[in-house]
Amino acid sequence: MTELEKMLEEARLKMAPLKSKYPRVFSKLAYIECEEGWFPLIEDLSANIELYISQHIPLELQDQIHYEQIKQKFGGLRVHMNNFIDRIQGSIMMAESISFRMCEKCGEKATRYNIRNWITTLCPLHYQQALEKKS
Ligand SMILES: [Zn+2]
Repeated sequence: MTELEKMLEEARLKMAPLKSKYPRVFSKLAYIECEEGWFPLIEDLSANIELYISQHIPLELQDQIHYEQIKQKFGGLRVHMNNFIDRIQGSIMMAESISFRMCEKCGEKATRYNIRNWITTLCPLHYQQALEKKS
């Protein structure tokens, strides 16, 4: 296995519990491009989206609404769906704004930092670790 294959395999394993709990929204997603501190946020979001789909989307269309990409951008969570649905976008915006106050690594209360042009949201502990790692 190459280094990249190892990373992708690790990312798939990390996502597996979420994917098995919410198979419909995760059906087309191979991996999540952020760290595990935000996974509880993604879990709540997925529960909200699944509930909305099951209550408001006709059965024959339900499996056509899924995540396109979940990643970290400018220190915040970014979630892209394959379809734009107002109410779902509202839940996504809420999760994205909460992520700016949550450590991407552990979920603790966090601040947004710029570490050598990498914008990241970290708690004091993980900020220290990130500084030490990069210098
Ligand atoms: Zn942390």
